[in-house]
Amino acid sequence: MNSESQTDCHRENSRFGESNQAQADAAWMRSALAEAQAAEKRNEVPIGAVIVQNGRIIGQSGNATEASEDPTAHAEILAIRQAVRATKTRWLHDATLYVTLEPCAMCAGAVVLARMLRLVFGALDPKGGACMSLRNIVQDLRLNHRCQVTSGVLAEECGSILTRFFRVRRNQA
Ligand SMILES: [Zn+2]
Repeated sequence: MNSESQTDCHRENSRFGESNQAQADAAWMRSALAEAQAAEKRNEVPIGAVIVQNGRIIGQSGNATEASEDPTAHAEILAIRQAVRATKTRWLHDATLYVTLEPCAMCAGAVVLARMLRLVFGALDPKGGACMSLRNIVQDLRLNHRCQVTSGVLAEECGSILTRFFRVRRNQA
């Protein structure tokens, strides 16, 4: 009885492409959040990213700037490198990047270079975001590639893990 009503529910959802997309986006963002949480456990700034192609994850990473002592070891860059290795292709035409925080200028540039289809991010970054807040590199008509952007997916959870992390750090200092 219960499983049948769930099936009905799925059927109902599939009639609405948009709400299906929103549900899928939220589900993949949960995976990105899990990467952010794993990063936090390693004392890294809790930002996570996953790259999805044809319904499966082909790259995933949390921020790793502390462990690698590399200011460019952002979650998005590490996930893109993984995805490119996994697919053995230079471009990620059909892929979507899910990341918990609005990408910075470097990562937005990498999304353009990798020619990704879509970018989905959680919280806005008013101080460093380069996909909406300060500028929009991934939709700049002057560049040779643009991608679709969806913002604000699980924004509150994505933002609060960062706020909490920095509050704890400030209190320790
Ligand atoms: Zn970045």
